[in-house]
Amino acid sequence: MYFVLFFVIGLLVGSFLNVLIFRFPNYPGLISGRSKCRHCQKTIPWFDLIPVLSFLILGGRCRNCRQKLSLQYPLVEIACGGLFVLFYYYFGLSAFSILLMAVAAMSIVIFTFDIKSLEIPEVFAWLLLIFAIVAAFLAPNFSLANFLLGGLAGGGILGILVGISDERWMGAGDIKIGLAFGFLLGLYGSLLFLMLAFVIGAVVGVILITCKNKKMSSQLAFSPFLIIAGIIAIIWGERIVNWYLKFAIM
Ligand SMILES: [Zn+2]
Repeated sequence: MYFVLFFVIGLLVGSFLNVLIFRFPNYPGLISGRSKCRHCQKTIPWFDLIPVLSFLILGGRCRNCRQKLSLQYPLVEIACGGLFVLFYYYFGLSAFSILLMAVAAMSIVIFTFDIKSLEIPEVFAWLLLIFAIVAAFLAPNFSLANFLLGGLAGGGILGILVGISDERWMGAGDIKIGLAFGFLLGLYGSLLFLMLAFVIGAVVGVILITCKNKKMSSQLAFSPFLIIAGIIAIIWGERIVNWYLKFAIM
């Protein structure tokens, strides 16, 4: 029962995140004001704002002008619903898992925004960092030393890379994401997180270069790789690290 509940809450939060992503940084209408079609400017009626369902019923087009609606709407909603269910499944009904859901929500905003505009909105990066720190303190196996070492590894290694690349490979926003997941994951977890981010980034980079004719020099947002790696490490990190240590000892 809770699975359905968290999925629906995730869908609704996702649809709110879509509003934030589309309207940021136009503060005046950021939260207030009805949603309008971005092509014909007609106000969208409430029954066309139901997460995912409305998109499917409308065939992905505006009811008024029949222009295509952005795929971002259903993708963000499903991602948010899916992550909420995953965190509930793995961490139960606890303050820790609720905070992880807040981490997921901020991650989705940063992920989408960075892909679209190669920029990480600072306010969401700070919110991610704050939610991650609170979540880390609520974690069942919290240890202050591991928290600090994790932050040092996650934020420090990325900070060095940003420094020596003069912000060409990644930017200051990525350091905040590294810090956030680092604090949350502890030392081993954050090493796994960084390794995963670079592996996923390299694989996606090669695929983009071969399939889409991107050049080696073309800019690629890095935060999506950090975020995917961070979420994998939160959910399955302990298992992966234990499995790896077992082999290392043998
Ligand atoms: Zn329209």
